[in-house]
Amino acid sequence: MADSGTHDWRARFGDAMMRTIAPPLAMLVRGEGCYVWDEEGTKYLDFLAGIAVNSLGHAHPALVAAVTDQVGRLAHVSNYFASPPQLELAERLKRLTGAGQAGRVYFCSSGAEANEAAFKLARLNTSGGRRTRILSLHDSFHGRTMGALALSGKPAMREPFLPVPGGVEHIPATLEALDAALDDTVAALFLEPVQGEAGVIDLPDGFLQQARELCTRHGVLLILDEVQTGAGRTGEWFAYQREGILPDALTLAKGIGGGLPIGALVTFGAASELFQRGQHGSTYAGNPLVTATANAVLGTIEADDLVANAAHRGEQLRQILAGLGSPLVSEVRGRGLLLGVGLTEPVAQRLTAAAQSNGLIVNAANEYTIRLAPPLIVGDAELADFERRFRLALASI
Ligand SMILES: *Cc1c(COP(=O)(O)O)cnc(C)c1O
Repeated sequence: MADSGTHDWRARFGDAMMRTIAPPLAMLVRGEGCYVWDEEGTKYLDFLAGIAVNSLGHAHPALVAAVTDQVGRLAHVSNYFASPPQLELAERLKRLTGAGQAGRVYFCSSGAEANEAAFKLARLNTSGGRRTRILSLHDSFHGRTMGALALSGKPAMREPFLPVPGGVEHIPATLEALDAALDDTVAALFLEPVQGEAGVIDLPDGFLQQARELCTRHGVLLILDEVQTGAGRTGEWFAYQREGILPDALTLAKGIGGGLPIGALVTFGAASELFQRGQHGSTYAGNPLVTATANAVLGTIEADDLVANAAHRGEQLRQILAGLGSPLVSEVRGRGLLLGVGLTEPVAQRLTAAAQSNGLIVNAANEYTIRLAPPLIVGDAELADFERRFRLALASI
């Protein structure tokens, strides 16, 4: 480190890291609350939170305590053994999701892995004969592994890696398309309640209820991907709760771990009976360290009522955005603290860079969308700071 210095980290990154992503925007070394610092000591207000991961912000005392305590006690055991934090988290997720007595939880280490597990679950749905089709939506994002890639509705992402697992069809997010595509040959329908990666796109009104009704009628598993929307981010514990429905399966990751890698598949009702012993697993699945951390994250969200805070602060953030009076801002999409600021011009990258120059981290979900996903602990001071910095960014482009 010493002789290579920090000034040439970009060159080091270019030499050492696989070229899977664009060159990084900064080198971050520390975080506290809703702020992070780069290697030169510059402070940024973090309104991306590791893409909806840092629910409690950075270095939250509950997170630090949970990791520190558990890593010194028991970090990992094989799946031949159970551990107290694992069972506590599974029971907590059953309670929070409303999965009820029949619900079950499978743990893994990422969102893509949770969707891989859900994909296998879908293949096991053979009720009433052969179900050869799996449906998901245009522009959907479910992860980068082969199965998750097959589910994702972005052809350009899949194309270099064909063939991907077969049987997946992508349909537009319209009630008509849903109606036309769903029948007894379908094993499962995958949906994100809000399409985060696509640019924070809400489902049409009534879409989830209609999906629930049709899936029930045709014996199709309704599988909701709440990797990005789950754990309080939308102002509900899980976005489907606002619609008054339950899925057959739910995939989670990102915000439930607050920064440690964890994913989960939660099943409801009869879907809990599909996986049989030996059909799936992972070495890290629900190890004590990550599950203890997730318990601390979800326990803090509960104790501090951060779900209500997400709803309340999300409304305030919408008011701030409306009050900017910027001709560049055409609309605000999303819910709670997962918002997409729609732009009238394709300048999201430039605006993100301008925000960064003004000490604010936001994300260009696409060229016409700025995505905001601040930590759920965000308060008055951070919102005021956001307004000031975002105004400066808008004024500078
Ligand atoms: C991020 C994301 C994934 C993939 O999660 P990873 O942890 O990156 O594998 C899947 N689905 C949705 C909706 C996501 O936002």
